[in-house]
Amino acid sequence: MPPTTTMVTEPTARQRTACCGCRRLRLTVSGEPCRVYLCACSECRRATGSAFAYRAIFAESAIVAIEGEASVWRRGSDAGRWIEQVFCPGCGGLVFMRAEAMPGAISVSAGSFTDPGFPAPAAIHNRSHQPDWYRLADTVSAG
Ligand SMILES: [Zn+2]
Ligand SMILES: [Zn+2]
Repeated sequence: MPPTTTMVTEPTARQRTACCGCRRLRLTVSGEPCRVYLCACSECRRATGSAFAYRAIFAESAIVAIEGEASVWRRGSDAGRWIEQVFCPGCGGLVFMRAEAMPGAISVSAGSFTDPGFPAPAAIHNRSHQPDWYRLADTVSAG
């Protein structure tokens, strides 16, 4: 009797798609984020129009697809290095960023994933810039 072949299925890495408001710029990544954080710095507040940005770091190798037209705006960081904001030219939605200080990785606007179960932030950066009218969970450290 021939041996039976047992199919061992590799666990498929979870894929998530972050998209802009008009849905034309779509970034699909595979697997879990390396780090999820909030940032209350002035630039993140300007970029999002909110009190803080909710962001997730993925390795560039986790990118499955970038679909749609993207515009890039490059700005300087406080440390004098570049940060590129990648956004939709149609609706202006900021989908992800690249930073000189973060080679091989991207920082995705976590709110652009339509995933209510997306991991919670572990830290808030530039906490000194945050207004005093909200209180974060104790699990969010000052980082
Ligand atoms: Zn758009
Ligand atoms: Zn920031």
